[in-house]
Amino acid sequence: MAFLNEVRIIKILPCLAMPERIRFIAEMDKDISEVMPYLNAVFEDAIYNHNGPYITLKKGDKLISVVGKQVSGSKIIDLKDAEELIKWFKAIVNQCYENRDSIKPNIERRKKLTPLDIFKLLPRTNCKKCGEPTCMAFAVKLVEEQKSILACAEIFSGRFNDKKKELIKTLVSAGYKVPSEFQEMS
Ligand code: SF4
Repeated sequence: MAFLNEVRIIKILPCLAMPERIRFIAEMDKDISEVMPYLNAVFEDAIYNHNGPYITLKKGDKLISVVGKQVSGSKIIDLKDAEELIKWFKAIVNQCYENRDSIKPNIERRKKLTPLDIFKLLPRTNCKKCGEPTCMAFAVKLVEEQKSILACAEIFSGRFNDKKKELIKTLVSAGYKVPSEFQEMS
């Protein structure tokens, strides 16, 4: 019997990074934390945080992020695309689990976020409340850990809750420090 059997979509939402696409939130029948170091070893472009643990994998331009039993997919074209991504994800989790004796697990964080990864999830109002002239300037400092997400008053104003959740999840997944009271999953 396979390690991971069921991944059930529970919510479809607009994609935050690409407004013309969708994202999904799904639940798995199993917590796959024990498989994450093997996925991190196999996928060179994985974003992994062993302290979560959290992992984000890429398939083409699509992203799939996992924590515990929850999976979210972004930059998805439609429901059929979401189902295909989930099918691929289940297959690679099960393959990694079955072959775990021949894979050297990797618990290192590999990828650093880029300013663009952050910028896409900011309110993009250039309101200057963070002390920076533009959201892109703030994104550059956030990536370099010279500024905290808490400095962006706009994202905590209540008007950008979806973006706030996605940004916090992205930061936590990549191993950035975010106060625990803000570490919530969407
Ligand atoms: S406070 Fe947030 S929204 Fe305003 S400029 Fe800074 S990063 Fe952009």
